[in-house]
Amino acid sequence: MIELQNVTKTYKIGGNTNYALHNVSFQIQPNEFVGIIGKSGSGKSTLLNMLTGIDFPSSGSIHINGTELSSLSNRRLTKWRSSNIGIVFQSFHLIPTLTLLENVMLPMELSRGVSRKARKRRASELLESVGLKERIHYFPDYVSGGEKQRAAIARALANDPPLLMADEPTGNLDSENSQSIFALFEQLVGEGKTIVMVTHDQDLAERVSRTIHVKDGKVSGDNRIQDHERLI
Ligand code: ADP
Ligand code: ADP
Repeated sequence: MIELQNVTKTYKIGGNTNYALHNVSFQIQPNEFVGIIGKSGSGKSTLLNMLTGIDFPSSGSIHINGTELSSLSNRRLTKWRSSNIGIVFQSFHLIPTLTLLENVMLPMELSRGVSRKARKRRASELLESVGLKERIHYFPDYVSGGEKQRAAIARALANDPPLLMADEPTGNLDSENSQSIFALFEQLVGEGKTIVMVTHDQDLAERVSRTIHVKDGKVSGDNRIQDHERLI
């Protein structure tokens, strides 16, 4: 489903070339729940930005569901991304002037041919499925951090993408809310989604089905965790 081949990303700082990623190769199969683990500065965000097509490798290739991201024009990439990848951020990135319902409806605007009524219905159902039935008409500033992240996950699911990518999704949440976001991800994996999650959280990292460790821009470890070994 995801295939990276010799992905290198460099940044030029002054006269120096800094390798944010250096010859990274791996594959992720459908329905995996992958934690990307590493210290600050190791290259995790850079890696996630490559996987979402927010930024592109200096060399090497990334294929997702057979599409090479760097081969798409900006316009096609935006369209491709909206139906293939849901993205979840540490700081939620909800639009404060829209209600939770309107935030979740927003990504559906790109899919033409669906009536506003149908979009509204789907957005309500998604919010209900993440436990926010009572909050759909609230503005983001009036709900808790955990609720904001649930709404952001509902928004990421709006166009039913097979893949969810999350950058430190629990980084701004307390342990109880982190646990419930994690439980929601487990439920989504149970429903067939593939999830790639960057995390610092050691407790959560022990509960995914695979961990890819990043150190100094390289993969320093790749462990598949058998179900019977997982701390569920
Ligand atoms: P992490 O997400 O693991 O904290 P990053 O991917 O943000 O790591 O960064 C990896 C390395 O690349 C770091 O050394 C960082 O300083 C460098 N880096 C990341 N983004 C940029 C940028 N836009 N310009 C220059 N250097 C960058
Ligand atoms: P997200 O966009 O995932 O919610 P943040 O808003 O915390 O997360 O920041 C996005 C990325 O930008 C982070 O991964 C972090 O490494 C980087 N970043 C954020 N603030 C700074 C900063 N002041 N200096 C350098 N990098 C930063």
